[in-house]
Amino acid sequence: MSPQVPIHTPHCIVGVIGGGQLGRMIALAARRMGVRTVIWTGGLEAPAVECADEVIDKPFDDAEALADFCSRVTVATVEFENIPCETLEKVAKCIDLYPSPRAICITQNREREKNFLKENNIPHTWFAVIASATDLAAAMKELNGPGVLKTADFGYDGKGQVKLEGDEDPEKIWASFGAPRSVLEAWVPFEKELSVMAARGADGITVTYDPAENRHRHHILDVSIIPARVSPAVALEAAAIARRVAEALDYRGILGVEFFLKKDGSLLVNEIAPRPHNSGHHTLDACVTSQFTQQLRAVIGLPLGSTRLHSPVAMLNLLGDMWRDETTPPDWLPLFEDPETSLHLYGKRRAIGRRKMGHANFLGPTAEDALERAEAMKALWLI
Ligand code: AMP
Repeated sequence: MSPQVPIHTPHCIVGVIGGGQLGRMIALAARRMGVRTVIWTGGLEAPAVECADEVIDKPFDDAEALADFCSRVTVATVEFENIPCETLEKVAKCIDLYPSPRAICITQNREREKNFLKENNIPHTWFAVIASATDLAAAMKELNGPGVLKTADFGYDGKGQVKLEGDEDPEKIWASFGAPRSVLEAWVPFEKELSVMAARGADGITVTYDPAENRHRHHILDVSIIPARVSPAVALEAAAIARRVAEALDYRGILGVEFFLKKDGSLLVNEIAPRPHNSGHHTLDACVTSQFTQQLRAVIGLPLGSTRLHSPVAMLNLLGDMWRDETTPPDWLPLFEDPETSLHLYGKRRAIGRRKMGHANFLGPTAEDALERAEAMKALWLI
């Protein structure tokens, strides 16, 4: 599209490619604003379906679905990044799509993402692109220490990754990894993991939310603590880096930047998510503007809202392993007995393994207090 992007009216119809929980929460935010949504998703059991105004239930490579989507919406966005670049390009030819196909295609693939970080002098861990056992052998030799091999495409929540100590046989590793195009990264002995949600509007103005401190369980986000317990200098630096990422991508919309914080106080970017992010779910209850409302403001072309945190908060992810069985949730009563919590469920019918079923936000006078209550609740449900 031309750089002179139109500003849509708040009463436009927003098309969302993808039907997961992020799409659901975008649709819910849209309903509050009187904005209609069309969700394009493969599968009517998708969490966003029951909250959308209209649904297109067809695969992303279906030409008819593409034409249908473009004819029904005024402006489009994505709720997950693993959508074929070709589809994104085609959508952007017929309607405005934010973030741009370029930004999504860079961030959906680790090789392109790492090269983008390198080209833009954004701090990141050492990496090498791997396409063969020979490449892996050479990269392991150069790294000369622990690392992690990650597939370039379709990786999330620790999937498609293998940790290497450095003394393994590259041939064997490559063969057992299934040999997809990959990236070998140096292992980062981090002190904390942080993330910053940033939003860049139609006018090119970028705003950032307070950094979140993230803890994982089985490679999946477990708890986010906001504000992160880091020095003001680290918080400012994380926000400044997230801003640089948004600007270098010429981004429009909300994005999440994940960081490793090292003992010496330096930050390395691990990953960029071109959409609302799990570590931004606290914004629903603890910030003036939620990440979902912010996404709509950015995509529609409205001025951005305040990112001010009005309370310390801990966000606890509710995974399927907390359910008593596939269809029986944990006892929510203790959660409701705590008057400073709120429950968000995604409407998923079956709790399988570590599926993300919902999240709970615990507000508190301090981040420690909120975290303590979140951890106590988790302990109740994980017995
Ligand atoms: P990712 O899917 O790349 O976000 O990785 C999932 C998790 O694995 C991260 O949140 C970290 O806890 C861990 N991890 C990934 N890459 C590295 C690394 N290079 N060094 C240390 N830990 C890592």
